[in-house]
Amino acid sequence: MTAVVLTGAGVSAESGVPTFRGNDGLWSQFSPEELASVDAFLANPDLVLRWYAWRRELIAKVLPNPAHHALVALENFFSRFTLVTQNVDGLHQAAGSKNVLELHGNIFRNKCHRCGEQCSTQTDDTIHFCRCGGAIRPDVVWFGEMLPEKTFEIAVRHTRKADIFLVIGTSGLVYPAASLPSLARESGALLVEINPEKTDISRSADYYLQGKAGELLPTLVRCLQQGVFTEFTSKT
Ligand code: NAD
Repeated sequence: MTAVVLTGAGVSAESGVPTFRGNDGLWSQFSPEELASVDAFLANPDLVLRWYAWRRELIAKVLPNPAHHALVALENFFSRFTLVTQNVDGLHQAAGSKNVLELHGNIFRNKCHRCGEQCSTQTDDTIHFCRCGGAIRPDVVWFGEMLPEKTFEIAVRHTRKADIFLVIGTSGLVYPAASLPSLARESGALLVEINPEKTDISRSADYYLQGKAGELLPTLVRCLQQGVFTEFTSKT
């Protein structure tokens, strides 16, 4: 059996990383257009870099939560397992997940805005320049930008082949990542969603499990360990 998991900011919420769209989300204090877009960066690089330095500092202090750990355990129940994440915090890898596809980059990396070359982490919040003269910026995907082409291609390929597609902690509003659950469904996968709030994905999900990822995922793993749901996980 082949499983693909798509995660969003909700998976890291219980680690203390604010989501974008919840009531206590980052966007309730800041406007995304002011901070996470190319235009914002070009207009006010210092503000954008200060905000990223603040977020990086916040994320550097948090630890993976039971949802991240349960996803590591889940890998063992499937012959092929791919974790596709919209998160930029690296917490899946910190927990020990393998085969992680980062659709929106990683906040701890930087790259040149002009030539795209990756460079070592910038530790302060003032602007630096690449050898080519381009400004150094966080290696994350901003509003209006394309996803890393190869990474998204691989995610689509795995999604088409999935027997089970789990979508966890995402509002499903950011495209093209949000197109993956419906692609999985059209390709014949069983679609399971975990989220405390219903989303546009909930209607088409075979199972909508209402609740927090840090509570439901460990329960799911315990059920699998006890031999429940083996029809979904046989390693054939
Ligand atoms: P979002 O803020 O739009 O949605 C978060 C979703 O998580 C909501 O549907 C909410 O109901 C759900 N949620 C909240 N607490 C949860 C919990 N404990 N368990 C399960 N679900 C929970 O986030 P999104 O859909 O990931 O939006 C995508 C964009 O947000 C991406 O661009 C991503 O890069 C960015 N982002 C990443 C991080 C991070 O790396 N941790 C944080 C904020 C935003």
